[in-house]
Amino acid sequence: MIEVKCPGCGESFEVPDGLCGESERCPACGLDVPIPNQSAKPDPIALLQKAIPTAPPALHAPNRPKPKKAERPTVTESAMAVFGAVFFVAGLVCAVIGVVFLLSDEYAGPGAVFIIFTGLGVAISGLPFWAIHHALRYLRRIANAV
Ligand SMILES: [Zn+2]
Repeated sequence: MIEVKCPGCGESFEVPDGLCGESERCPACGLDVPIPNQSAKPDPIALLQKAIPTAPPALHAPNRPKPKKAERPTVTESAMAVFGAVFFVAGLVCAVIGVVFLLSDEYAGPGAVFIIFTGLGVAISGLPFWAIHHALRYLRRIANAV
């Protein structure tokens, strides 16, 4: 049995457990009193006192799904991103060194051009790692959204 308190007259009365989630007419004043789901609430009477008589019987909030944690890139993805970034920066530095050599009178010549192209090549070779890193994160976000 569940003890409920009528919000209209304050009279307490008992109803069978099977009436959880439904409503019962108060024997004292005839008001329809919603029967709380006792298993879901520690103190149904206290909550019932706050409820208005015409409120729907579902007094407890439905279970909400836990909010997902913010996505974190995996170790592999992070390693690829760092690897790509290091490659790219190192390549650009080499290319700049080549340009400096090309502009200076002492080092100008085929050697400087070689350094420029090598640096650009290294920089470009780092880009796929960076691209894969972002592609994997993008694909995972799509997979989670479905
Ligand atoms: Zn009553």
